[in-house]
Amino acid sequence: MDCIFCKILKKEIPSKTVYEDELCMAFEDINPQTPVHILVIPKKHISTALDMSEADRELIGHLVLVASRIAREKNIAESGYRIVLNTNRDAGQTVFHIHLHLLGGRVMSWPPG
Ligand code: 5GP
Ligand code: ZN
Repeated sequence: MDCIFCKILKKEIPSKTVYEDELCMAFEDINPQTPVHILVIPKKHISTALDMSEADRELIGHLVLVASRIAREKNIAESGYRIVLNTNRDAGQTVFHIHLHLLGGRVMSWPPG
């Protein structure tokens, strides 16, 4: 399958990995939008949030816990951070392997642009 994040998981494309376990991997976004911008992805290829099933319930919870743990490690937990899961066109999803954006390190506006 021609998926850029599956290639990152297989180390065919290099990435600045910040965390890895049997279920997921976290690495720095190549085009950071905030001082801390890390992507947390499952090792299982799932195209969009719409393709998750009941069987993925624990997996998505794990991704959120990992993102928050990294937020603590990067010292953005107290100041605040955002976890984003873009889905399909209007949200700006460009890579169709689900990923949580962990964003922080500066004040962010709301609502998003
Ligand atoms: P989306 O727009 O799908 O929610 O987010 C995709 C993200 O993946 C973007 O923030 C983009 O910068 C990042 N990205 C795309 N290709 C690569 C890559 O090859 N390496 C890394 N580290 N990030 C990537
Ligand atoms: Zn993939």
